[in-house]
Amino acid sequence: MLITTEGFILKNRKFGETDSILTIFTRKAGKITAIAKGARRPKSNLLAGIQPFCYSEFVLYKGKNMYTVSQCEAKEIFYPLREDLKRLSYASYLVELVEAVTTEGQTNHRLFNLFGKTLFLLKKSDIEINPIVRAFEIKLMNYLGYKPQLMSCVNCDSKETTAWKFSATEGGLLCSSCYSADLFAMKISNTAVKLAIFLLMKDITEVQKLKISDHLNEELKKILKQYILTHTNKYDFKSLEVAEKL
Ligand SMILES: [Zn+2]
Repeated sequence: MLITTEGFILKNRKFGETDSILTIFTRKAGKITAIAKGARRPKSNLLAGIQPFCYSEFVLYKGKNMYTVSQCEAKEIFYPLREDLKRLSYASYLVELVEAVTTEGQTNHRLFNLFGKTLFLLKKSDIEINPIVRAFEIKLMNYLGYKPQLMSCVNCDSKETTAWKFSATEGGLLCSSCYSADLFAMKISNTAVKLAIFLLMKDITEVQKLKISDHLNEELKKILKQYILTHTNKYDFKSLEVAEKL
């Protein structure tokens, strides 16, 4: 069976003399593994479209265990990401995160669109990286089915509290009367709650110029990291740490 779909290259590994094994996040088939035969021959017409991050149009043959790339045409190679180590590292973080949280063969159109928009944003020079990355993380959780409850207490629905905490296991805010519902809940400031709501509601292209303090970014980053870890249990955040040191 042949399918035609757009997709992003998440991973590209050498295989044998001239082949490549690809992990592709496709629009129509979700995350898939595909072999690109002869792709590493200098004159291969697959070569351009299968580099990491590449957004390409693929014609894929679905075999028993794996797809085979029969044609591919690069639509966007994200060149600016490749020449700037900082952007490259953040893009690698997003790629790893998507790879870790998606299931082979399961489509997720909202995540696919978000991933594409975010890579296109990271290509631009006049952007604020931190709000973009935080927005990506919180939207990713939403699209995986873990939309955090940020308007009221997740335990008693109260909108009033002396101070909020965020419970990763309960998936939202806890008011001061409900702290005992999760002993590992983390303090969260009112400003961070407002920022999280903003990032969740707005399209990611609308947060590209948003200025947030390092302090606020750190606060939300810690909470989202805990939230992602609790529900995906697969990701170690090493590439994010590398990106932040640059
Ligand atoms: Zn409560």
